[in-house]
Order: sequence, then C-alpha cells, then structure tokens
Amino acid sequence: MPSLPDVTASLDSVRRRLAAAAHRVNRLPSDITLVVVTKTFGPDLVRAAAAAGQRVFGENRVQEALAKRDALSDLPLDWHLIGHLQTNKVRKAVGAFGLIHGVDSHELLEKINRVAGDVGVKQRILLQVDLAGETTKSGVPEAGLPALVQAAVEAPHVDLAGLMTIPPRPDEPESSRPWFARLRQLRDSLVVQGVPADRLKDLSMGMSGDFEIAIEEGATIVRVGSAIFGARD
Ligand SMILES: *Cc1c(COP(=O)(O)O)cnc(C)c1O
Repeated sequence: MPSLPDVTASLDSVRRRLAAAAHRVNRLPSDITLVVVTKTFGPDLVRAAAAAGQRVFGENRVQEALAKRDALSDLPLDWHLIGHLQTNKVRKAVGAFGLIHGVDSHELLEKINRVAGDVGVKQRILLQVDLAGETTKSGVPEAGLPALVQAAVEAPHVDLAGLMTIPPRPDEPESSRPWFARLRQLRDSLVVQGVPADRLKDLSMGMSGDFEIAIEEGATIVRVGSAIFGARD
C-alpha cells in the first residue's frame, strides 16, 4: 500500500505526463479529464488524492463505489462507473455516478433511461465499444454501434457524451495506438453520418500503460489507477 505522500507525488507525475502528451499534439491539458481509478484501494487513499486536488474517481463495481462514496461524503467528489454494469444494479447506479462509461446494450440503455426517468435525473453515459471482438470483454461490437448511438440519442433521460473502449492488453504502449485511432475514426464517421457532435464529444480511452498514446489519439478522458497507487492485489 503506498503512503499518502507517495500518492501526491505519483499523481503529480501522472498529471505532468498527461500535460506533456497533450502539448505534443497541440491540445490543452484542461480538455482532458483524469479519472483516478481507486478500485481495491481504501477511502484513505482516495482522501489523499482528493487532498492533492483530484476530484474525479473511477470504480468498476457499484457496491464498492457506493461504500467509498458514503465514507467520503464530506468531499465534493465526482464518481464515475468504469466497469460493466449489470442490469440488476442499475437502480443503485443511476444518479450516483456522474458518468457511466460502460453502456453496451440496448437492454442496459433502456433500463438506465427508465430508472433515470423514474427518479428524475438525466444520466450521463458513454457507450463502450469492443473494437477487437474479444468475446471475454464487454462492449458493443462495431457493427452494432450506430443503432445503439441512435437509441441513446433518442433516450430522453440519458445524456450521451461519447464512446469508451478498452483495447486488448498492450505489450507496449504503442500497441494500443491503432485501437485508439479506430475509436476516434468511428466517432468521426458517426458525426459525418449526422449524429450531433456534442453527443460524441468524449472519448474515454487509455489506462496506466497507454494513457499518453490515448491522449495523442484524441482521448478526452483517461482512466488511471496503478500508475498512481501501485499494483493491485
Ligand atoms: C482498472 C481499470 C482501469 C485502470 O487500470 P490501470 O491499469 O490500473 O490504470 C481503467 N479502466 C478500467 C475500465 C478499469 O477496470
């Protein structure tokens, strides 16, 4: 478990790397949201990162996220759900997360829309795309994306903000580049086909091993855990 001062230093270093990657491609670091991924780590480390100025945190399990959110309810944090959401957890998740990254089916989309309508919120979401066709992974296949985007644009209680992907585990950071470029191209072609650009503004891509490459390829949201907190058990 890293000590609290370590968290400040490693968060600083990730922020510097993020800014350097943005500058390499003439982008503004402020246009990129760093989601600090705290899964498996306790509330104390979240608090340390918050003390270092971090506001946005990512978790991949609803239960674990809500427990941390409750333990830290004195802080003004923005929690993102980055993992797969099961339909039976939708009721707990809607309204609790500022952004749900992993929406990947019509069934899930419809349930989120229905629950958001019930509780009177507009839920921000991203659609997760499985670019490599990995059967073990969540995500809508590329071929199914246009119809899912259309449904999300039309759903009155969700606010579609863009796309998310998790490429195959990279051997080296550069192996992820074609996948990140592909997600950007998919977005661009959907916009050419008439999807309003502000519905697809965000691209959530890049983790500890490849977030700088993702930024070079247009990521607006990167999800970084182990580069800040060290390896998870
Ligand atoms: C765990 C996780 C991350 C962070 O992974 P690191 O390699 O530790 O940065 C990012 N995105 C998702 C969806 C995750 O589940």
